[in-house]
Amino acid sequence: MRILVPVKRVIDFNVRPRVKADGSGVDLANVKMAMNPFDEIALEEAIRLKESGQAAEVIAVSVGPAKAQDTLRTALAMGADRAILVETDTDVEPLAVAKILKEIVAETDPGLVILGKQAIDDDANQTGQMLAGLLGRPQGAFASRISVDGDAIKVTREIDGGQETVRLTLPAIITADLRLNDPRYASLPNIMKAKKQPVTIKSPADYGVDCTPHIKTLKLAEPPARSAGIKVADTDALAVKIKELGVA
Ligand code: AMP
Repeated sequence: MRILVPVKRVIDFNVRPRVKADGSGVDLANVKMAMNPFDEIALEEAIRLKESGQAAEVIAVSVGPAKAQDTLRTALAMGADRAILVETDTDVEPLAVAKILKEIVAETDPGLVILGKQAIDDDANQTGQMLAGLLGRPQGAFASRISVDGDAIKVTREIDGGQETVRLTLPAIITADLRLNDPRYASLPNIMKAKKQPVTIKSPADYGVDCTPHIKTLKLAEPPARSAGIKVADTDALAVKIKELGVA
C-alpha cells in the first residue's frame, strides 16, 4: 500500500503571530516557518505503517511557495520516500488544495491519504473532508488511533462524550489528531541526505486546478489585551470576588 501525506508550510507554532500594520493579514516577513504540527503526526503515522511492513511507500506533497521545498525536505528527512511540490504563490484555499490532491491521488493511487486534522494558520479543518467528498471515499477524521485490518482500517476518534471506532474500507482518507503519536525528530545525517534528494515540482495548472481565492480577508486584528489577574487570600474571598464580578 502507498500512503500520501499532504504537509503544509505554516508559521512555526512557537512563534507569536503579529498582525500586519494595515490589518490585511499575519506578518510573515522574517518569521520562522515549519511543517504544520498535525501533518508531522500524519507523516509519523505513515512512516510507522511503512516500518511495520503495512505500507510500501510514503509520498509527501505540499501546495505552496518554492520555500515549501524546505518542509518537504523535512518530510524526506523524517522518512518519506519521495516528495511533490505543487508550486504557487497564491494563498491556496482548502477546496483548491483538495482538488489538487484529488488529481495526485489519481496519479499515485494511494491506499491511504493521511492529512492533518487542521492547518494551524487557517484553522479551516476542511481539506481532508473535502478530499473524501471529492473522491467519494470513506473518511476517518480526528484519528487518535489507527490499525490496518485486512482490506480495511480501524480508526478511533475522539468525539463528544467519548471515543468512537469506525472501520473504513480501503482506499480511505484519515485526518490525524494530536494524540495519534509523538512524531520523531529527523536525525542530522537524514537531514543532510534529504538536501540532495529530488523534489518533483508541479503547478496547479498541471492538475487543471484554478487556485484563485474565493474568500477575502477583510480585516485581521490582535485580540484585545487581557487585563492582569488578581490574587485572593482564600476560597471565601474568591466566592465574594466572583459574586462581585458577576462571573459565576
Ligand atoms: P485545513 O483544512 O486548511 O485546516 O488543513 C487540513 C490539512 O490539509 C492539513 O493539516 C494538511 O494535511 C492538508 N493541507 C491543507 N493545505 C495544504 C497545503 N497547502 N499543502 C499541503 N497540505 C495541505
